[in-house]
Amino acid sequence: MSDQGILVVVSGFSGAGKGTLIKTMLEKHHNYALSISATTRAPREGEEDGREYFFVSRDKFRQMIEEEQLIEYAQYVNNYYGTPRQYVFQQMADGRDVVLEIEIQGALKIKERFPEALLVFVMPPSADELKRRLVGRGTESLEIIDKRLHRAAEEAAGITSYDYILINDNMEQCVEEMHQLIQMQHKRVSGNLDFIEQMKSELKKI
Ligand code: 5GP
Repeated sequence: MSDQGILVVVSGFSGAGKGTLIKTMLEKHHNYALSISATTRAPREGEEDGREYFFVSRDKFRQMIEEEQLIEYAQYVNNYYGTPRQYVFQQMADGRDVVLEIEIQGALKIKERFPEALLVFVMPPSADELKRRLVGRGTESLEIIDKRLHRAAEEAAGITSYDYILINDNMEQCVEEMHQLIQMQHKRVSGNLDFIEQMKSELKKI
């Protein structure tokens, strides 16, 4: 089987709980690496540069784009977000599956450039529950929450481009489902053509 790690894109409406899901999956199962994005958004309370994000100025972000340091980037609400190339490629070459927690425009760019990537969309059990979680989180103003809910409505139109949806009702169960999906992606025929070729040539020699 191929030793190369795969790219796993996890998207979901703001407040769907994807951050917690991913964090729990990484704690429970090893061999995953989480890509840390660059963003022009200001850090939230408790966020640290280089841990949640690389917090950069707009000028620095533009420079990263020009120097092709990002494998994708997108604008979300009032800020830019992008995935640094080097870490992702290094981790995949080392055999780790790299999780990108990114929004839908970026996800679609990844699918175009890396057709073998696995795209998962995390949904809350209902729209009401989504609003309740966003308000309960208390990290954004009501105006921004409103913008994020509008964005969720727009993003809903793009979900059919993803490979799987996961409903985040029971967190533990959802984590296991995500892990299983990723494990199955490793077994796809299209991701194992070298191994299949090797088996064919070995069989010929017997
Ligand atoms: P937040 O401000 O809540 O941390 O993130 C806002 C949105 O930006 C989320 O949907 C998150 O998944 C997405 N995002 C974070 N990093 C990236 C990135 O590198 N690229 C893209 N396209 N979206 C990102």
